Amino acid sequence: MTDIKIPAADYAIVGGSGTLSSDFPANIPDIDVKILADNLRFETPYGQSPAFRFFSVGEKKVLTVKMHGWRSGVTRADASRQVFWTFREAGVKRIISEGGVGTVNKLLDLRDFIIPDDYLDLSVRKDVMLDGRYLLVMRDALCPELREALIAATKKRFAGRIFTRGTYAVTDGRHFESPAEIAMLNGHADIVGQSIAPEVYLAREIGACYAGLYFTVNYGEGIREKWSHHDMSDIFYDDAPMIGQIILETIRNVDAEERNCECLSLRKETLLKDVYNESSSKG
Ligand SMILES: [Zn+2]
Repeated sequence: MTDIKIPAADYAIVGGSGTLSSDFPANIPDIDVKILADNLRFETPYGQSPAFRFFSVGEKKVLTVKMHGWRSGVTRADASRQVFWTFREAGVKRIISEGGVGTVNKLLDLRDFIIPDDYLDLSVRKDVMLDGRYLLVMRDALCPELREALIAATKKRFAGRIFTRGTYAVTDGRHFESPAEIAMLNGHADIVGQSIAPEVYLAREIGACYAGLYFTVNYGEGIREKWSHHDMSDIFYDDAPMIGQIILETIRNVDAEERNCECLSLRKETLLKDVYNESSSKG
C-alpha cells in the first residue's frame, strides 16, 4: 500500500524486542483497544516507510511500528528517518519506545526493568536528522512526564525489580559489546543497547516527548558468567503481553494536548540556517 494518507495520531510507539513476539496490540483483550488500519506503508523523502499499525485506545489515536522500523536492505539511519518523518506528518506528540538491553551496572539482573533518565551516545549515527532546522538541547531528553507515567504503569503491572532512573549507552550494533567495551562503560552507564539514539534526537526534532521502557535480557560481557541465548528468548516471549499492557496504560494516563514538560521548548531555531544541511550546529 503506497500513496495513502498518513492518519492523525497524538501518540506513537516504537516497538522493540519486547513486543515483537506478540501481535501488539491485537493480542491485548482490553475493550478500549481497536485496530483501525494495518500494514500502512508511506512514501517518505527517505524511502518507503516500514509497516505501521494504526489503532485507538479509547479516544486516543496511536501509530505503532515494529522493531524500530529496522529491516534488511534499509540502513538503520534511513529506517529511523522514515519512522520519525511519518510521526511528524501524523502530528505525534508523545512517543514511547521499548526494548531489550544488556547490563553494564553490576547490580542488575536479567529481567530487571529500567526507565532511564539519560543516555550516552557511542554510536556513529549522530548526524541522523530530518531537516536540521533546530538546535536540539538534550537536557531531559527522556521526557520526565512521560517517564513518570511509564514508571507508574510498570509498577502496577510488574512485580519484579524496577529501576526508575539510569543511563542507557548506545552502540551501533548489530553485534553486542566486547568485555573491554563493557568495562569502559562501567561507571558511566547502567545498560547498553542500540536504539535510543538516533530516536531521541529525531523525537526532539519533531517536538515530541520521548521515553522508553527497557528490560535486561543479557549480561554485558565480562560482568558475570556466560549468559544464555535461551534466557533471552524466554524473556521476549513471556513478557511481551505485559510490556504491551504497560505501554497502553501509559497512553491512557498521559495527555497529549496538555504537556507539563519542556520537551517542545528544548528545540531552538538554529542560527546556522543557510548551512545546516552540511554543517553541525556547533564547532
Ligand atoms: Zn515531554
